[in-house]
Order: sequence, then C-alpha cells, then structure tokens
Amino acid sequence: MSLHYDLHTHSTASDGSLAAAELVRRAHAAGIDVLALTDHDSLDGLAEARAAAAGLPLRLVCGVEVSVTWSGLTVHIVGLNVDPENAALRAGLATLQVFRDWRAEEIGRRLEKAGIPGAYAGAQGFAHGRILSRTHFAHFLVACGRARSLREVFKKFLVRNKPGYVPGEWAELAQAVDWIRGAGGEAVLAHPARYPLTGTKLRRLLQEFKACGGTALEVVSGSHSRDDTERMAGIARGLQLKASRGSDYHGPENPWVELGRIPPLPEGCVPVWQDWDLPPAGTA
Ligand code: AMP
Ligand code: MN
Ligand code: MN
Ligand code: MN
Repeated sequence: MSLHYDLHTHSTASDGSLAAAELVRRAHAAGIDVLALTDHDSLDGLAEARAAAAGLPLRLVCGVEVSVTWSGLTVHIVGLNVDPENAALRAGLATLQVFRDWRAEEIGRRLEKAGIPGAYAGAQGFAHGRILSRTHFAHFLVACGRARSLREVFKKFLVRNKPGYVPGEWAELAQAVDWIRGAGGEAVLAHPARYPLTGTKLRRLLQEFKACGGTALEVVSGSHSRDDTERMAGIARGLQLKASRGSDYHGPENPWVELGRIPPLPEGCVPVWQDWDLPPAGTA
C-alpha cells in the first residue's frame, strides 16, 4: 500500500495559522499518513505535534525549514528527520532568531519612516510563537487596509526596493546543511521554482548544495505549477538528487493550498523517503 506524504507544513510556531496539534488532526483528516512539520527556523512546535500524532495512525516527521542567504538571495532548506534536541542545530537556529528579532524591529522602523506606524507591535499581535515573520507583518498590513491580500503585501511592501524591506542575513548554505545532517536529518532544497534564478544558476546552487551534503529537491510543492514540477523532476534526475513532496501549507485562510492536496512525484523520481525506516503509526 502506498502512503500519502506531505513533508512541508507550518504551524503557529512560525508563520502558520494552526497550532501544531490542530495541524496534525487536519492532516489526518485529509488522509495524510506521513506528515513533516517544518516551521521556519524553529523546532518549537514539534513536541506538541508529536504528542498529537501519538494517538493517531499518522507518522510525524520532525522537520525544520532553515533560512539561508546564498549569492545575495534567500533560499530555504528543509531538514527532515532531525533530532529536535540536537544542541548544534538548536544553537544554529538561535543565531537566526537573533537576526530575525533585529530584522523585525528594523522592518517596523522602515515602515514607520514610510508613514506606517505601529507595525512592529501590530505584527507581534499576529504571532503566536517566538518567530516573527514577514507573514505577520503582512497580516498587519492587510488588517490596517494597506493591502487587500498577503500576496499584494509581498508586491508593495517587504520586498526589494519597497518600503519595509530588510535584506536577509541568514545562515550560509553549508552551515544549514551541516546543522541538519549533524542532527541526523536530510537536507532538501525547498520550492526550487520560486527563486528568481535562471536554470544555470539553479544548477549551480544545487551543485553546491550537493557538495555540502544536501540530498534532495522538493520537486512537488504547493507553490509549483505542473510545468515547474516537470522541470524540477528533470533537474533532480540529472543531478541525482532524491525528490520530496510538500504542500507548504500555512493555514486554511489560503484556500489554494491544502494539506496533502498536491500531485504525486513524477515518474522516475527517487522519493526522499525511499530508505526511511518509519516507526509504526501511533507510536511517534
Ligand atoms: P520571512 O522568513 O520572515 O522572511 O518570511 C517569509 C514568508 O513570507 C514565507 O515563508 C511565506 O510564508 C511568506 N511569503 C513570502 N512571499 C509571499 C507571497 N508572495 N505571498 C504570500 N506569502 C509570502
Ligand atoms: Mn512561511
Ligand atoms: Mn519557504
Ligand atoms: Mn515553508
């Protein structure tokens, strides 16, 4: 019997809108057998997710989505099957948290200069965990009528050459992969079609990623078109990377992305889970 995998999701521990336990219950209701919780730069939701999964026929994969700056660009590396107690991983994520906290204040200051006061406190009002994300600023900007949707916020604010933009200073690619592998996990380049990169530059990123110990590409993502998926499947095969599959679910307020409602891996892809030895459902 083939299992239904969703290996990229968010909870209120970062910028998702469902608490970890609620997310797990919704994933089970959606027919998912194996779910990875992969909050941005945070492991805080994993204990709650694990506890919720323990009573269900659903296997929880402990994950994280690490923010990386590569060649001036922010890219995301998903770590799957990490040990949430690993000291080096936790210390690494703590350094990102320091930058994230400073960046949030700086976003607030820059928006204030652009005539939008109170954004730092406003964004905090939308955050439920330690992580303060641009998503929380986006919710605030929509709530105070500066944009009609989150998507519009990411066109008018918080991005390069727009008010409230602060360049990322996240982990180095090699560091992020080391943290993940050091914690027993596997490193996956998330939503590869979303980066403003030419095919040549994406291959360069992936060659470097592989040289650092990265093993997989998120071929199927909630943010990929059918063409993106086929293109990424070709790249994964060409570079002998395994393939992952994840919705990047953030919550029910975005009806275009639902837990597990993503296509299967294209023919010829080697699933990232191929050699996983998952514990029986209901025990992890
Ligand atoms: P941060 O890690 O704080 O810089 O926030 C990045 C997050 O912003 C991403 O993980 C997405 O959840 C969200 N985001 C980025 N671009 C968009 C967009 N165009 N529409 C909606 N959400 C976006
Ligand atoms: Mn996000
Ligand atoms: Mn991402
Ligand atoms: Mn994500």
